[in-house]
Amino acid sequence: MTIVTRFAPSPTGKLHVGNIRTALHNWLWAKRHGGRFILRLDDTDKERSREEYADSIRADLQWLGLDWDEEHRQSQRFHRYETAVDRLREMGRVYPCYETAQELDLKRKVQLSRGKPPVYDRAALALTDADFERFEKEGRQPHWRFKLDHSKPIEWQDGIRGRQHFDPALLSDPVIRREDGSWLYMLPSAVDDVDFGVTHVVRGEDHVTNTGLQIQMFEALGAPVPAFAHEALLVGSEGKLSKRLGSLGVETMREAGIEPMALIAKLARIGTSQPVEAVPTPAPLIEAFCFDTFGRAPARFDMEELEGLNARIIHQLDYDQVAGRLPAGMDRAGWEAVRPNLRTVAEAADWWHIVEGPVTVEADPADAAFLAAAVRRAETLDWSDAPWQALTATLKAETGRGGKALFLPLRRALTGRDSGPEMGPLVKLIGKDRSIARLRAASRH
Ligand code: GLU
Repeated sequence: MTIVTRFAPSPTGKLHVGNIRTALHNWLWAKRHGGRFILRLDDTDKERSREEYADSIRADLQWLGLDWDEEHRQSQRFHRYETAVDRLREMGRVYPCYETAQELDLKRKVQLSRGKPPVYDRAALALTDADFERFEKEGRQPHWRFKLDHSKPIEWQDGIRGRQHFDPALLSDPVIRREDGSWLYMLPSAVDDVDFGVTHVVRGEDHVTNTGLQIQMFEALGAPVPAFAHEALLVGSEGKLSKRLGSLGVETMREAGIEPMALIAKLARIGTSQPVEAVPTPAPLIEAFCFDTFGRAPARFDMEELEGLNARIIHQLDYDQVAGRLPAGMDRAGWEAVRPNLRTVAEAADWWHIVEGPVTVEADPADAAFLAAAVRRAETLDWSDAPWQALTATLKAETGRGGKALFLPLRRALTGRDSGPEMGPLVKLIGKDRSIARLRAASRH
């Protein structure tokens, strides 16, 4: 059996970390089994769906490297939903209703005040031909409900939540189509899953009840029921469903210098029993991906932790992987010299500017003689080998300085900074002439 998964965003906004995580898990599962991963745009809502959001969803998935094998749009499949609804009507599983939103609201309030669950009472099933004629004369259009089968419980083995059980009598028959003919999410999604041969539906636990209803739709359509896995929701570091998470998307990540691989490594593992690891490629994540490892508690997403993971991933990136994003002139040696100090790849440019200069040097007048000695040594030593080691060793012997008193004035003079990458490789990049000029300038402070 070919494993088929799908990611089904509505193009009514940009992706955020929560739905990126869902996309990733579907992708990982398909990859793990050599299966297919489908991008399905749930664009039945004409008012709210926008082409620019569809484009941004695709661009975000591409940036993340989550390639999809097929793309479908619900707005191009209305004929399929029509066919399905006609069949279900013939079978008596779909029926017209005429209640207004206010009437339904009132019914719910009455039920609640009597301590009853607010389940739709199926009053529309008792409508007579005379009622239908009257509604037609009045020009009223029905909305349509799917009739749940109350004869047996709805059950499934959820990949994450384990055995799930619903009593259909406690659920309202879901509205599947509005008065104006537009489709609600429920039936189109089930029809698509059947048509595209989806074998695994992986989505947030906010869809658990929908799954109960959709299982009956699959059965009514005579189709195999896919496997389901509902993941616990993502929460912010403070442990709450935060608004901020809803606005954290690829754009924010890019601005913060987060590598796609860091976001993937993080989102693949948070909320699971597996450790978050600074892996350089998705391969180990694919290989170890498994729903058994997912917990039921909300997964915590912490931007600071992601930044730490990002740095660890950057420290492993090879020059060839970043060459296109480095400043002109920065070669392999340059990258390797500054890499251990970076939190983002963009910071490499800051260090490259320091290498190339000019740097603003602030030296302590008390170090003037020491720096003048450094100039003399720097002029005579052999720059082809290990100039920093040679310079510091001779200065140590000559001045008796050690530790911070030896290294800090030199670092400041050469880079204009108090800290940074290891000086050995950096001094080689700065080179003899620039180094001597900087030491000389600092000695004159
Ligand atoms: N468009 C739905 C959503 O974003 C899809 C849910 C599903 O995966 O079936 O919530």
